Amino acid sequence: MELLQIKGIGPKKVSSLEKAGIHSILDLICYYPYRYQQYVIEPLSASQEKKSICVIATVMNEAKVFYFRRNFNRMTFQVMIENKIVSVVIFNRVFLKQHLQVGRKIVLFGSYDVQKNTFTASNIKFELFTSDMIEPIYHAISGVTNKEIHQMITTALTMPYEVDDFIPLPYQQQYDFMDKRNALQILHNPQEMDMLKKARHRMIYEELFMYMFKVNYLTYQHKKNNIGIAKKFDEQKLDALIKSLPFSLTEDQALAVEAIKNDLFAPKRMNRIVLGDVGSGKTIVAMLGLYMNFLAEYQGAFMAPTELLAYQHYETISHLFANAGMRVALLLGSMKKSEKEEVAAMLEAGSVDVVIGTHALLSQNVVFSNLGLVITDEQHRFGVHQRGVLQNKGIQPDVLYLSATPIPRTYAQMLYQDMDTSYIKMKPAGRKDILTYVKKEFEITDVLYKMLEELKAGHQIYVVAPLIEGDEESGLHDVNELKEKLDTAFAHKVPIGILHGKMKKAEKDVVMEEFESGKLPILISTTVIEVGIDVKNATMMVIFHAERFGLATLHQLRGRVGRNDVQSYCYLISDMEKERLRVMEESNDGFYISEMDFKLRGSGDLFGLEQSGDMKFILSDMKRDYKIMEQAGKDSKAFLEENIAQQFSLYPQYKRYMKTLDFID
Ligand code: ADP
Ligand code: MG
Repeated sequence: MELLQIKGIGPKKVSSLEKAGIHSILDLICYYPYRYQQYVIEPLSASQEKKSICVIATVMNEAKVFYFRRNFNRMTFQVMIENKIVSVVIFNRVFLKQHLQVGRKIVLFGSYDVQKNTFTASNIKFELFTSDMIEPIYHAISGVTNKEIHQMITTALTMPYEVDDFIPLPYQQQYDFMDKRNALQILHNPQEMDMLKKARHRMIYEELFMYMFKVNYLTYQHKKNNIGIAKKFDEQKLDALIKSLPFSLTEDQALAVEAIKNDLFAPKRMNRIVLGDVGSGKTIVAMLGLYMNFLAEYQGAFMAPTELLAYQHYETISHLFANAGMRVALLLGSMKKSEKEEVAAMLEAGSVDVVIGTHALLSQNVVFSNLGLVITDEQHRFGVHQRGVLQNKGIQPDVLYLSATPIPRTYAQMLYQDMDTSYIKMKPAGRKDILTYVKKEFEITDVLYKMLEELKAGHQIYVVAPLIEGDEESGLHDVNELKEKLDTAFAHKVPIGILHGKMKKAEKDVVMEEFESGKLPILISTTVIEVGIDVKNATMMVIFHAERFGLATLHQLRGRVGRNDVQSYCYLISDMEKERLRVMEESNDGFYISEMDFKLRGSGDLFGLEQSGDMKFILSDMKRDYKIMEQAGKDSKAFLEENIAQQFSLYPQYKRYMKTLDFID
């Protein structure tokens, strides 16, 4: 066991590290700090301008501890700072008491109140620093302290280790990047901010270079290998089915269907993404694609990210295409083994034309007789790797993705460059825009009045707060506090539910069910409602501290209402940032909103995209680092074009990397 070779690591620590996914010296070295705490020792007088300062102090007497409430304590003692006696207060740190010997020099962090001559400490350090110090902060590993993680990594860095550097030499030189080992050393033991920035920049560039290399490689592969089947079918049958639908297609839908038809007819492999807001009507477009593919006598598969969605799609297709002669099956992971086997057998025998399902479709047991079209809903939730698994179950099948994540054009061009795109921007006829208002806190009575009106009409309301429990200092409303306030406002006559990420799943399920059944007229939550609630009777969304959210997030949250033909409302409450929030009043178009967000903040809010399977970056942040991403995209493309003919003979690390990518497509 490699980790045991590191001095100071025993079997117990090894097992803690393994649980955190760290199995080797290299894993440990690649466990980067997620942030840094910078300490600069200052004079006490600095507290006049700054809320939080850092000073050197000498302990003058023994600390007194007061316990109140459960798990709550306050410790006070006196110190000398710059020849002045000052009282120190610190909460919930009794365990530090043993280190506070009289006469000891310590470093205090916190705020100083001149009037009360009291220093409220948020932290105390016992190593003395004379100059600036930067402390790396790691994601917590249970059973190992931050200091221990840091110590282990520092030791590991002195041991021999192999690490691939994925920045090709010409780019190392062009940008004057530091050596990777050097960068790793600095990441874990930074001496000064400038060097740390350089080291991080280099590592971020490398990470994004690799990611964009993958995108470029897939694009290249697709172009090289886009020979598909020219499918033939009777267009009149398609027209007849479209006419039989209970609504007529919007212009954007019709254009997307037309594009898909031409892709299928052409002797190339379709690789298209349909982008459209939630509710814009992508599903029917996908289903018409499945129908065309069926008319051409091929099987189709439609993969959805959740069982609920898969089931809904199954219902929709069974209903709308009841007379189309298409045999449709459903395949979910939660089905009985025998049921799954039956569906698999029918697919293999060709006695099912279309299968709708979840990840279960990726199982080895699922074999098709002639798979011609693969559709993936919410493509960002699956890694490219998983998408490939399904495609490989057919021979050069056509591929269609659906995405409801409205991202700015700049990102779309970068990330979807290997695909053709169809945008569905317009809403189906009859769908009303959600009327949106930005309000200041003092205007809250207007909002309460509107809430009452909606409640009287028998409608339901979502209320969103950014935090579960706010701290007094931040002055933010939290879920619990809002519940109290609303209870008071509605005189405890309206049942109000609470939902947040720290609740147990069973508790959450109960609340969701009660809200869905209408038993709870109001639901207060953090952004967890982002996932899977669909309550048609909800007509009002109230978001507190709206300035804390990106516009795409606000748009997604707002999309929770307006799900029937009744007028819906959204209130954004904020005392700041009117300008940006006005965009929400102006528009209900997710693409416009994400574009405006991008313009106003210089980066987009990529809600939804960031959680995606293949975009989990360690150091990079697509929003913050999009310029680096753009550059890395150009560079990796040039690098690919220059070296692919010689199979990257100069770059063994890329030979290895490519092998893992070939598996994808
Ligand atoms: P998306 O998948 O883009 O989120 P859906 O395809 O689920 O949206 O469509 C949302 C709702 O709108 C569905 O109930 C669907 O039947 C309906 N719908 C789709 N297209 C139209 C249209 N052209 N006119 C009226 N209703 C439509
Ligand atoms: Mg084709």
